[in-house]
Amino acid sequence: MDNSFCLRCNRELAPGQKSVAVYMFAQTVGVRPRQKSTSERMCFCAQCCVSLAMGPPPEGALNIAAWQMIRELVGADPALNEAAWENLRGVVGALPSGHESTHHERAVGYFEF
Ligand SMILES: [Zn+2]
Repeated sequence: MDNSFCLRCNRELAPGQKSVAVYMFAQTVGVRPRQKSTSERMCFCAQCCVSLAMGPPPEGALNIAAWQMIRELVGADPALNEAAWENLRGVVGALPSGHESTHHERAVGYFEF
């Protein structure tokens, strides 16, 4: 199987790297026999997931559906957030430790680049 690339930033995703895969397929309704398309797999790296989840809703019904799913995953578990911050530390060095309440402010500063 080919290596995955982040759909948003085109970063290569190593096998097992923290990321989110979005699967999509189409299926006919009310038609017999039922037709089902092949399944498409799209990947987003941890940083893009967090960035998307923190950002405003995108344009388009499909994009909004994917955005809501990514928000659900990012909001449910800090693992993706932590992975995004681990990557960031290599870029700008150590970040000051803070309370949970300051986390969002720092995140906003970063995700506006
Ligand atoms: Zn990415």
